[in-house]
Amino acid sequence: MERTLSIIKPDGVAKGLIGEVIKRFEKNGLKIVAMKMIYISKKEAEWFYAVHRGKNFFDSVTDFMSSGPCVVMVLEGPKAITKNRELMGATNPKDAAPGTIRREFASSIERNIVHGSDAPETAAFEIGYFFNALEICG
Ligand code: ATP
Ligand code: MG
Repeated sequence: MERTLSIIKPDGVAKGLIGEVIKRFEKNGLKIVAMKMIYISKKEAEWFYAVHRGKNFFDSVTDFMSSGPCVVMVLEGPKAITKNRELMGATNPKDAAPGTIRREFASSIERNIVHGSDAPETAAFEIGYFFNALEICG
């Protein structure tokens, strides 16, 4: 069993894709064990994407992430981190495999509907940032 953090980004929420994304998780063996809708501030987005500080898209992506509400979730299941990344597809929707969330719904490399943790260490860190132990119903 593994846990990962998923975010439906402001474009996914604005496009009415919360149900579509959640359906894909639930159909594919990823159980939602925590969930909430929140606004991520610019400062929080800068922290969240700190590994990208200094890159040319940093200012733009952190503006985007703080532009509207997000849905943050903890997903649990076998190989949850990899499974979630498979369902999401590649960062750039043009490179994402057919049938993936980003291929079907993303409008650009920046506005790509979903975030998913990329490794066990980042998953643990990101889950701990958004949820405390009492909020996770595993
Ligand atoms: P995420 O971390 O959101 O799950 P990812 O791991 O597929 O996505 P990263 O390389 O971590 O991709 O990039 C973080 C986010 O920054 C991307 O999801 C996207 O929103 C944005 N981004 C990445 N590369 C670019 C780029 N070249 N131009 C614009 N935005 C970008
Ligand atoms: Mg990433």
